[in-house]
Amino acid sequence: MKTETCKLLILGAGPGGYVCGIRAGQLGINTIVVEAARPGGTCLNVGCIPSKALIHAADEFAKARSFAEENELGISAAAPVIDLGKTIDWKDAVVKRLTGGVAGLLKKAKVRFVEGHATIVDGKTVEVGSKNGPVRIRAEHLVIATGSTPLELPFLPFGGPVVSSTDILSMRGVPAALAVVGGGYIGLEIGIAMAKSGAAFTIVAAAERILPQYDAELSNPVRKRLEGLGITLHVGAKAKGLSADAKSLIVEAPAGEIAIPADHVLVTVGRQPVTQGFGLETLGLTMDGRYVAIDARCATSMRDVYAIGDVTGDPMLAHRAMAQGAMVAEIVAGEKRQWDKRAIPAVCFTDPEIVVAGQMPAEAPGARVSLFPFAANGRALTMERSDGFVRIVSDPATDLILGIQAVGAGVSEMAGQFAMALEMASTLTDIAETIHAHPTLGEVVQETALKGLGRALHN
Ligand SMILES: Cc1cc2nc3c(=O)[nH]c(=O)nc-3n(C[C@H](O)[C@H](O)[C@H](O)COP(=O)(O)OP(=O)(O)OC[C@H]3O[C@@H](n4cnc5c(N)ncnc54)[C@H](O)[C@@H]3O)c2cc1C
Repeated sequence: MKTETCKLLILGAGPGGYVCGIRAGQLGINTIVVEAARPGGTCLNVGCIPSKALIHAADEFAKARSFAEENELGISAAAPVIDLGKTIDWKDAVVKRLTGGVAGLLKKAKVRFVEGHATIVDGKTVEVGSKNGPVRIRAEHLVIATGSTPLELPFLPFGGPVVSSTDILSMRGVPAALAVVGGGYIGLEIGIAMAKSGAAFTIVAAAERILPQYDAELSNPVRKRLEGLGITLHVGAKAKGLSADAKSLIVEAPAGEIAIPADHVLVTVGRQPVTQGFGLETLGLTMDGRYVAIDARCATSMRDVYAIGDVTGDPMLAHRAMAQGAMVAEIVAGEKRQWDKRAIPAVCFTDPEIVVAGQMPAEAPGARVSLFPFAANGRALTMERSDGFVRIVSDPATDLILGIQAVGAGVSEMAGQFAMALEMASTLTDIAETIHAHPTLGEVVQETALKGLGRALHN
C-alpha cells in the first residue's frame, strides 16, 4: 500500500476541514485533506449555498407572479412559469464554481487533496480507499471534520415520496403538494421556497410553535407571513407515517388524526454527527452525547487529535466550523489560541429572515431590551416590506450590548454588524452615535440603540 506522511491530516473538506487546510497551508504546515465526496461538504453541495440559490429563484418567481396580479407598483406582466429543472441546473453551476474554487484554494495553499473514504487506524494513521488505490497516511496531528447528515425517522425512512433536504435540493419539478415534517429552519427555508414556486405546502411541527429555538416575538412575523403565503401549519402535531397508498402523511394533530395529501414529504427533524463508519471508535474518544467532546482549543480527549464543525455539536453552522478550523491550524502551527469568540451569529433565511447574535432576552434576566420596528423606517416602506424589527439586549448598568436580534426582509446582511458590535464590546452609545446612512434598513439598528438610551427619534 502506498504511504504518505504529513504534519496535519484533516478528515473532511466541508467548511471546517477546508478552511483548516487553507490556513494550515498559509502557515507552511505540510497538510493533507481527505474527502469522500466533493470539496465544500454539506455547506457548498447540499446545504447553505444550494438552499439559498433556490430561495433566491423562488423569491424572483414570486415577485414576477405578483406583477401578473393587481399590485401597487403599477407593474403588469404576463403570468410567469418556472422550469425548476433549469433552476436546478443554474444552482448546480453555482455549486460547481464554488467547489472548484475550494479545490483551487487548497492547491494554491499547497495542501494535498486526497479523494476517498478515510478509515482511522489509530490516532496518527488513516487509510484511504482512493480511486488510485489504497493509501496509508501517517500524520502528527489529526483533525476530525466529518460533519453531519440528515436525521431519518424510523417510521418515515428516506426513499420514494419521503425526501431529505439533500434530495429536495435537486428535485427537478415543483411538488404539487409538499408536507414538511419539522418546524426548524431547514424545513421552513426550503418549504417556503417551494411554496413560492407553486407547491401547496403544509408544515407539521411537534413543538407548540415553529422555530422553537427562537422566542415567540422573533418567530411570530414568520408565522404571520406563512399565513399570507397560504401555507398550512400544524403545531403540536406528530407525523406517524405514510397512508397505505403513500399519497398522504398521517399526522396525530391536537384535534385527532388527520391525513395530509402530499406527493412529497420532506423530513427535516435535525442532523446527526458523522461519527460512525470510519473507525472513530478505535480512538475511544470522550463523547458529549452523540458528538465528539472538545475543549476550548477544539482538542479531543486524545493528544494531537482535534475535532471541528458539526461533528462537535451545536450550533451546527458553517461559519462556526470555519472559525474552529482556522483556529486549529494556528494551534498546530504553535500559536497559543483558544476559542474566545463572544458571539456566533445565526441567520434563518425564512421570509422574513431572522438574525440572532449574543444573548436573547430570556438568557439575560434583568437586562434592558429595546425594540424598534421596520414599520417606522423609510427604506423598509420603499421596499414594500415593513414587517419585523430590531431588538437589542443590553446591560442597564453599563449600556454594554449583550445581544442583538432582528427579523425582517433582508436582515441577514446585518449579521456581521451585530457580531462585530458584540466582539468589540460596543455599548448602546457606540451604535447610537455611529452615523447610519439614510435611507437604509440599518437605521433601525441605530434607532433601537437610541431607544435603549431613552431617546429614539422616529418613534
Ligand atoms: C439545507 C441546509 C441548509 C443550511 N444552511 C446553512 C446556512 O444558511 N448557514 C450556515 O451557517 N449553515 C447552514 N447549514 C449547516 C452547514 O451546512 C453545516 O453547519 C456545515 O456544512 C458544517 O461543516 P463541517 O465542515 O462541520 O461538515 P460538512 O460540511 O458536513 O462536511 C463534512 C465532510 O466530511 C466528509 N466526510 C465524512 N466522513 C468522511 C470520511 N470518513 N472520509 C472522508 N471524508 C469524509 C463528508 O463527505 C463531507 O464533505 C445548512 C445545512 C443544510 C443541510
